[in-house]
Amino acid sequence: MACIEKIYSVSALVGNGDCNANCNFCAGKYLRPQANNGKELYHKNLEAAIKLSARHGGWSLSLTSSGEPTCDPDSLTDALKVYKKCADQGAYFPNVNLFTNGILFGDENFCNKYLDKWKYLGLNNIAVSIHSVKEEEQAEVYGIEHYPNLEDIVSNVEKHGLGVRGTLLLRKDGVDTPNKYEHAINTLIEKGIDNITSWPVGNPDNSRNKHTPSRINLFKIKRWLRKNATLCHGHVWGGGVFDYNGNIVRITDYVTKHNRRKDFVRQLVVFQDATVAYSWIKEGALCLK
Ligand code: SF4
Repeated sequence: MACIEKIYSVSALVGNGDCNANCNFCAGKYLRPQANNGKELYHKNLEAAIKLSARHGGWSLSLTSSGEPTCDPDSLTDALKVYKKCADQGAYFPNVNLFTNGILFGDENFCNKYLDKWKYLGLNNIAVSIHSVKEEEQAEVYGIEHYPNLEDIVSNVEKHGLGVRGTLLLRKDGVDTPNKYEHAINTLIEKGIDNITSWPVGNPDNSRNKHTPSRINLFKIKRWLRKNATLCHGHVWGGGVFDYNGNIVRITDYVTKHNRRKDFVRQLVVFQDATVAYSWIKEGALCLK
């Protein structure tokens, strides 16, 4: 049994679980019943998780949800207020990312209403989930009529001094081969997204499902990246960050199961019922209640 030396990041689920999309592979649905529970304990445990990670060398906070976090913007503001309090006391993260389907960032008025405030509270980046670099296909996957132009999202966000990251999801019949991966990355870069993280979609317990690309194709995508980009640093849990023609491309797994024999934690997860766990898979990984 090892002692925990390093806690790399915190992922916090925020909001009431509402979503403005309807994906047929949604991995958040099973967590939605936990949303809307008491906020006081949630905020107390979020603060503790941020401070614990910062004390163990953590460098990033990810705000996400069992639905779409921007559909409950006030909860997002409240979570960022907790972060700002921690940061003012020294528990500061260089990366504070909001994971989103991006739909509302196509709306200039929404951006004008919230982004300056969220930036003041410490948000750095908007991480937009990309299933396809074609907006019509994004709309189809998200089960909506129209998906905003990625260029508009980039411009609406950057106008407020925040960065846009792409979360390129590897999905069977979507981006699932090295050719499609190369094309997707180059297109995202052309559209102004030059900081891209990719991982294969799967079940919340990290098992494969019918939407996960084949093992051989995932291997080939990783091999393509190793051949065509320079590794900047690896992750102890697998994957790493690459320099691809001056752009950042990161490849990793969807989630990492907590291993009590290791001396690191990839991320503390703050669930909407206020439980803090050492991984997305709660069982055998409880940290705070
Ligand atoms: S956008 Fe995210 S939360 Fe909403 S339906 Fe799709 S996968 Fe689920």
